[in-house]
Amino acid sequence: MKGSLKLGSIAGIGIFIHWSFSLLLAFVIYVNHKSGYNINQTAWTVLFILSIFVTVLLHELGHALVAKKYNIKTKDITLLPIGGLARLEKLPEKPLEELMVAIAGPLVNLALAFLTALIISVPEDPKVLATLLSKGISGNTFFLNFFLVNIWLAIFNLIPAFPMDGGRVLRALLSFKLNRHIATKIAARVGQILALGFIFAGFFINPFLIIIGMFVIIGAQAESEFVESKYFLKGYTVRDVLMTKYQTIDANQKIKTAIKLLLDSQYKIFLVTENGEPVGTLHRDHLLVALAEKGEEEPLYTFMNRDLVFLDANALLEDVFELVYSNKSNLMLVTENDRFIGTLDTENLIEFILIKEINPQKKHAF
Ligand code: ZN
Repeated sequence: MKGSLKLGSIAGIGIFIHWSFSLLLAFVIYVNHKSGYNINQTAWTVLFILSIFVTVLLHELGHALVAKKYNIKTKDITLLPIGGLARLEKLPEKPLEELMVAIAGPLVNLALAFLTALIISVPEDPKVLATLLSKGISGNTFFLNFFLVNIWLAIFNLIPAFPMDGGRVLRALLSFKLNRHIATKIAARVGQILALGFIFAGFFINPFLIIIGMFVIIGAQAESEFVESKYFLKGYTVRDVLMTKYQTIDANQKIKTAIKLLLDSQYKIFLVTENGEPVGTLHRDHLLVALAEKGEEEPLYTFMNRDLVFLDANALLEDVFELVYSNKSNLMLVTENDRFIGTLDTENLIEFILIKEINPQKKHAF
């Protein structure tokens, strides 16, 4: 993610922290200062926030390490002020695998809560508890707060609604008996009904519930569409969507030649070649930035995108779906027996999905 600082890596997974996290710390220090807290109290609060971020990291690592057991790699984990984000290379689709990967995160929180419970005593009287908590974080209440936050994180993440882990747990459980496509629809609907409940309750109890509700409605919709798209791709291979018409341009050509081509055609991404061999790609936006920075005499090889993404013509579309989507402004190269036979871009795949949605040929059955 842009604007993230790499902290290190664990089990080969890069751990990043987003810059906006420093805003959160600054905000907390400011609020503490405003409320007249002394340095000591502020230090405890900051330490507490850091401990929550370690917790979030452990939660995401829980997902990532279980995914690794099923040979699913995690690209990276980014810590944001609103929580963590583990980017898995693909999502597990077998019900048992999805269940284990999804539940691993909340289980980490429960384990942390359990361990903390061994060293603290939680007051049984809610009034005593409330007074203790109202005093803010200190050496005495640090672990009590840590315990409660972990319980809360486990419950929150287990809400059976996308994009929460609980939504995936629910879908996985339904998928043991139902087709994944149907299971997703049911899980998304359950989540949306819950979300409406949250929004309604938010007006009476806590406005925060309204935000959660909106978050769930959007998340459920996105998940539904994602699975729906993938469903329409079932049974098709990269060969079915490859483009045999694409624009090439030599790497030694200048920006002005590329601009002319851009204006003369509909193509937005060019395949850059050298002696007829593909060596890079060039997207319109990238070209315009280069024009502004370097002028129209600059040759293309100095700034073209050299990250070539290759797709096997026989690969199943549902398997490369995530990869194609994560290369939105790139042109991917389709090969067969190591021979280059065409290209593919995200837009073409989206067009294919739109056509299949309108006109689904029964190339596959349940
Ligand atoms: Zn999670």
